[in-house]
Amino acid sequence: MTTIAHKLHSVHGRIAAACAAAQRDVNEVTLLPVSKTFGPEAVREAFAAGETAFGENYIQEAVEKQALLADLPLQWHCIGPIQSNKTRLVAQHFAWAHTVDRLKIAQRLSEQRPPELPPLQVCIQVNIDGAASKAGVAPAEALALARELMRLPRLVLRGLMTIPEPAADFAAQLAVHRKARALFDELRAAGVPLDTLSMGMTDDLEAAIHAGSTMVRVGTAIFGARPAKG
Ligand SMILES: *Cc1c(COP(=O)(O)O)cnc(C)c1O
Repeated sequence: MTTIAHKLHSVHGRIAAACAAAQRDVNEVTLLPVSKTFGPEAVREAFAAGETAFGENYIQEAVEKQALLADLPLQWHCIGPIQSNKTRLVAQHFAWAHTVDRLKIAQRLSEQRPPELPPLQVCIQVNIDGAASKAGVAPAEALALARELMRLPRLVLRGLMTIPEPAADFAAQLAVHRKARALFDELRAAGVPLDTLSMGMTDDLEAAIHAGSTMVRVGTAIFGARPAKG
């Protein structure tokens, strides 16, 4: 087994153990490997080990990588910030966008989605811990934005996504992830048909699964440490 295959095996083991501990069905939780900063060869290794969906943060980098991997049947998820001048690339090159937090961005994604592609699957990014200067809508605004997004013809609203600040321990991670799950349940109760709660990364996936995450986005535990951003 390659190192990446070996690490993937261990991440799937962590997910299974977390599901067992939370008395959840392991099929309720999807792993999204995050390949940002790693090259196409790393993605090929993960594909050979059975992964077909990948998360990328940097849109330009992702589009270049996708071109080098066009021979593989991969599904790409945009999990990085989306500026107005990048919406067209996202609409053209991704199956999912997890980081929609403004109506204007959503409208552009819908308008720019190529007609030959299926609708873009989207999540609303929520600033669940209220950190200043952070992306994401305030929790109190999520329902209103969800209702607007549901009207856009070329988007399918699938869920909520969060990136909480690193927390000290499991209890603190769990507390913030539970807030996200409560908001997710609240929107569903209000009639928004969500099926995806995208939360949990290398350091907090157990707490996220315990709180009710349905998709964990994991980079470091699969591909290794990324170079520090300069
Ligand atoms: C980088 C990144 C991840 C993966 O983080 P790791 O800690 O390396 O698992 C997940 N989600 C988002 C939005 C990211 O930017």
